[in-house]
Amino acid sequence: MTELLIKNGFVYDPLNAVKGEKMDIAISDRRIVEKVDEKKASVIDASGMIVTPGGVDIHSHIAGSEVNAGRLLRPEDHFKDVEVKTAITRSGVGYSIPSTFTTGYRYSRMGYTTVMNPSMPPLEARHTHEELNDIPMIDKGAYPLLGDWWFVLEYLRDGLIEECAAHVAWMMRATKGYAIKLVNPGGPEAWGFGRNVKSIDDPVPHFNITPRDIIRGLCKVNKLLNLPHTIHVHTNNLGKPGNCTTAIETMKCVEDLAEKGRPAIHITHCQFCAFKGSDWATMRSGADEIAKYVNGHNHVTMDMGQVVFTDTTTMTADGPFQYNLYGLTGNKWVNHDVETETCAGIVPFRYRRKSPVHATQWSIGLELALLIEDPWRIYLTTDHPNGAPFTTYPQVASWLMSRLARQATLKKINKRARRKSLLLSINREYSFYEITVVTRAGPAKALGLKQKGHLGFGADADISLYNINPALVDSSKEYKKVRKAFSKAAYTIKDGEILVRDGQVVKTVPGKTFWVDVKLSSPIRSTEDLKRRFRDYWTVEYENYPIPEEYLKASAPITIPARI
Ligand SMILES: [Zn+2]
Repeated sequence: MTELLIKNGFVYDPLNAVKGEKMDIAISDRRIVEKVDEKKASVIDASGMIVTPGGVDIHSHIAGSEVNAGRLLRPEDHFKDVEVKTAITRSGVGYSIPSTFTTGYRYSRMGYTTVMNPSMPPLEARHTHEELNDIPMIDKGAYPLLGDWWFVLEYLRDGLIEECAAHVAWMMRATKGYAIKLVNPGGPEAWGFGRNVKSIDDPVPHFNITPRDIIRGLCKVNKLLNLPHTIHVHTNNLGKPGNCTTAIETMKCVEDLAEKGRPAIHITHCQFCAFKGSDWATMRSGADEIAKYVNGHNHVTMDMGQVVFTDTTTMTADGPFQYNLYGLTGNKWVNHDVETETCAGIVPFRYRRKSPVHATQWSIGLELALLIEDPWRIYLTTDHPNGAPFTTYPQVASWLMSRLARQATLKKINKRARRKSLLLSINREYSFYEITVVTRAGPAKALGLKQKGHLGFGADADISLYNINPALVDSSKEYKKVRKAFSKAAYTIKDGEILVRDGQVVKTVPGKTFWVDVKLSSPIRSTEDLKRRFRDYWTVEYENYPIPEEYLKASAPITIPARI
């Protein structure tokens, strides 16, 4: 039994209301415990360091066919960024779309221990889990794309909510999924015919239902199944001027479905759906309106989708959006259709400081995180790799923590974007406590991962230590020190084992895959209808579809009793 004692660190543990107090953290047998025998335990002297729960990323595209197609599309992404083999780690490549092993090492070096992969076409779940199996160092999970899945659309069209819920429960088990993902609900289905939906009330071709029906229907399904996370929604009209109205309508459309104390919807990478204006020339920030709505309603959580000025790769199941982006940039492009389920597009992209639109996008992400008053409701992401690679998180944190850091970047951006930036009038600076909320405690809570994101007794011993002394360093002024410290964890501890020391990987572990095993009170209906449809609709047989649990390297099912 491994015993470890972390002594004298400044502990930030928001879920247990610990705000930088000097405390010891004891670990025994992979969990945090009240105390250990100091003579027998290994001791880490954390004097002058911050001690926080391991980082939890609620939305990052790290695995699956979409990510892999991005790797194939972009050899230039590999040449410039090489991960050198060591005695412990494998070699790898990739800046915006790192190879699997490199992904695990880089997250771990930053002190992250749990990452959720937000976009998994059910038909390609097997590939996604193969890559998740490959990624070491972190626990993970994946959200199956269900917003344009024919079975769901048919059930919702026919008003069969309970049947839809039973089907989604089967789907979660079949694909080893964690949460219901909707991307431009109705849009990918319309895209199969070269079309799109333009509002939440625009009918989806051939199904005679609207995005509103899909969002509300799956929100009800989510409640019936008691899933640990809410529906995870990429809104309609993403990436288009004026879309902040659509985002607000989307949040509003499930207001009446919210239960006390529980959010009903998660709006992902909100920066991309917080634009005002009627075209690119008049595009400006809608962060103030979104924040006003979120501050007045507690049924919503969201993540940032922050943009950083760099070369990256955009990828999403929102095929029509990617087609527009391809049209705007003229860059090389992948378009992909997944039969009866969804689609995807991939376009390389460079965010430029001097572009008024890109600079405004940079500003919007930060504005959202600073104008939304409650840090428990918005989480730090870049929608990796869409807004920027996840390795830029320390920089994003420094912008949130320091007005000076923001001003330094503001000085360099497009003049028109600077003049209109709401950041000019925002003085708020995140504290270490708040940054711990948006990178750990908040996302873990939103995901319903009870063992993660905190350092209470019984929690998984996933802990990160950073070489920064909050009593001596003023994060507002010395933001470069903060950024440096967050880039290289002094220690990353996972399940009680030291994986990273001084920013170097010293041990590798496989990491678990979470999925939800929903127990229905009545047994699931016959699969005969399902099998018949597979014969009619698909190029694969039903038997190829469900993924056996043994297929996962370290399966970690979460058993959920459903309400039906
Ligand atoms: Zn995404």
